[in-house]
Amino acid sequence: MESPAPPHSSRLIIDCDAIAANYLRLVEHVAPAKCGAVIKANAYGLGVAEVAAALLHSGCRSFFVARLGEAEQLRRIAGSGFDITILNGLDPGSEAACADAGFIPALNSASQLAAWRAHARSAARPLPAALQIDTGMSRLGLSHDAALEAANDPVLAKEVDLKLLMTHLACGDEPARGVNSEQLRRFEAIAAHFPGVPKSISNSAGAFLPSTFHRELVRAGVALFGVAPVPEAMSLQPVVRLEARILQIRNIEAGTRVGYGLEHIAPASQWLATIAMGYADGWPRSLSGKGAAWHKGVRLPIVGRISMDSLTIDISALGEDRLTEGDFVELLGPAQSLADVARDANTITYEILTGLGLRHARFVIEKGRMRAVHKRAAA
Ligand SMILES: *Cc1c(COP(=O)(O)O)cnc(C)c1O
Repeated sequence: MESPAPPHSSRLIIDCDAIAANYLRLVEHVAPAKCGAVIKANAYGLGVAEVAAALLHSGCRSFFVARLGEAEQLRRIAGSGFDITILNGLDPGSEAACADAGFIPALNSASQLAAWRAHARSAARPLPAALQIDTGMSRLGLSHDAALEAANDPVLAKEVDLKLLMTHLACGDEPARGVNSEQLRRFEAIAAHFPGVPKSISNSAGAFLPSTFHRELVRAGVALFGVAPVPEAMSLQPVVRLEARILQIRNIEAGTRVGYGLEHIAPASQWLATIAMGYADGWPRSLSGKGAAWHKGVRLPIVGRISMDSLTIDISALGEDRLTEGDFVELLGPAQSLADVARDANTITYEILTGLGLRHARFVIEKGRMRAVHKRAAA
């Protein structure tokens, strides 16, 4: 490690070079459409400062966050000269803060649109916005009729500077489902009424659908972080490594019970290691008795229930002297991907990533060099 690391029991290593490479891979893949970066939730838990820096350096000028607080944090950290769109839209009363900072709210409902227009009238200038259309997901966005009404309102352009017309796919990661083209058809029917406004439909998965789904801008999130949303995206580079220290090693006799509830019963003599990784570190408790840690390509199964701050693994496969207390084992890395862990935990990669939290020592790799980063609370 190039910069001195404070003592730590677990570490998260984020490869910003891989994030940059994944971004450029997406840029190339969706061209001539542009590729924006979705870095909501502290850049999917990885640290918005370092992730935004890598993306800005790679030429990204369009960022998406979920909340006003995240937009403000991004502005504080990275300055201006790029677009910040707030996907969750406007909380009541946040219009002035959003307008003064020059953020682009995604207006998701007729009432958000009305509030933004009212603020524009009082500010006596048109305010930037994205307009989101609900094309079938029933999550966020204007209905077909409300969108048409807006399109036909001659005063709208005086109040709202429309930067983007967008929708979101419910099943973009299932390319075979006909609902994707149904959403596309509904979107295009509205889009025809907004000539000259850039359009955006796709998230990471949609980037690997046919180019009719790319329009002017793709909003890529998870693919930046090395998760292939569909098998076609397998050339993305992995971004995270997670390692935890061994706190204690013991040998147990057959019949010995392990952990809360004493659920694991050793079938034979076993070498066990208790490591500094628990559900408070974002390692899901549903991996009790199921998942594994790894060491040099050897699988070390989790035995018993996962505690808040620790879990126990069976290291018998290594022989008794291959690991010692204080050594690190791999939780995420070359032997075990986010997709592996998500599958074992019966969840999705997004939930594993965003749950990793701020308890681990953090390191980033930038231009081939590793350095420790200070922790930062998410907005
Ligand atoms: C989170 C989000 C994205 C990014 O999704 P990924 O699947 O991570 O690429 C894009 N668009 C909207 C509206 C989102 O909420």
